[in-house]
Amino acid sequence: MEQRDDDRAPLREAVIDVSAIEHNTRVLREATGTREFIAVVKADAYGHGAVPAARAALAGGATRLGVADIAEGLELRAAGIDAPIVAWLHHPLADFRPALAAGIELGISGADQLRAAADAGRGAGGAAVHLKLETGLGRNGTAPGEWDELFAEAARGEAAGELRIEGIFSHLSGANAEEDLAQLAELQRGVSLAARCGVEPTIVHIAATAAALDLPETRLDAVRIGIGLYGVSPFDDRTAADLGLRPAMTLRTRVAAVRRVAAEHGASYGYDYRAPRETTYALVPLGYADGVPRQASGAGPVAIGGRTYRVAGRVAMDQLIVDVGDDAVAVGDEAVLFGDPVDGAPEAEAWARAAGTIGYEIVTRIGRRVARTVVGEAERP
Ligand SMILES: *Cc1c(COP(=O)(O)O)cnc(C)c1O
Repeated sequence: MEQRDDDRAPLREAVIDVSAIEHNTRVLREATGTREFIAVVKADAYGHGAVPAARAALAGGATRLGVADIAEGLELRAAGIDAPIVAWLHHPLADFRPALAAGIELGISGADQLRAAADAGRGAGGAAVHLKLETGLGRNGTAPGEWDELFAEAARGEAAGELRIEGIFSHLSGANAEEDLAQLAELQRGVSLAARCGVEPTIVHIAATAAALDLPETRLDAVRIGIGLYGVSPFDDRTAADLGLRPAMTLRTRVAAVRRVAAEHGASYGYDYRAPRETTYALVPLGYADGVPRQASGAGPVAIGGRTYRVAGRVAMDQLIVDVGDDAVAVGDEAVLFGDPVDGAPEAEAWARAAGTIGYEIVTRIGRRVARTVVGEAERP
């Protein structure tokens, strides 16, 4: 990340390096080698900003975009992004016409939902759909008992020009390799049954980041990659750097106050922390309203002036305290909660460990009060 000495930078800032997203896309595209690469930019691209993240992933070689909700797809279209987009989680009474008008493909989780898509597609050039099969995860997807009905409806709708079957897909539990391969076999059983009903999708897909990297059998025609794009590791035992990925988000602020305190002085609500000796407390203006997990109280890392400290006491709504000892920390010094370790920053995954969660949740929950600053954009003519 480029270092900026900008005194007017926002107090609370998530710097998004889109060149890292482009780089990560390229690395993952090469590692997986599939015909298609679906970049998952749901939930505002895991907190990174859907539009700049989608543009960066497309520049890095993504061939389609994936979102959960149709509204997320419409946001990308409104920004002028014309790549194929698939959305897979719908309102139970969804009207699919606005999605079709915007050229958004639909992930479909049952025969009734497929009939609703066919209704919307009638006279409108046909609805492009990806049939989602339930293979074990227990979330959405069509249950095996309904596959015959689903594929019969798909064949009928395609013949009538109401449907176009772009994909058949499922989603893995990641419980272990054996369970994931059992889900893969179940998907393949569904694909064979579909073929016997005359349904031949353009692409079959099941792997997200973890399986795409670790279980080559699951790569099929396309992978659906989310967390890897953002340079956060899906694994407990390998860092993003181990995977050749660069973290795209840096969460930073400036020290808002410093205070010299005597031994035994408390820090933050409940005095869970007390100064072990005379020391300096630095006040860091980021709190749980900004997505800093309160569960990481007393544990989360903060880098100031080239050293990494732990949060002292409880993370509050707007702020937290760091005990910097006798170090010469001053008001206005940059404080980095996470970013790229290459720049001396802690990793988002370190906050995840401190809070008992996963890196996904740390980056995705960064709050609205934190300004997003996009850097690393290629010069566009
Ligand atoms: C979120 C999601 C993904 C991406 O998962 P990552 O682990 O972030 O790569 C892929 N497919 C589906 C259906 C998802 O909901």
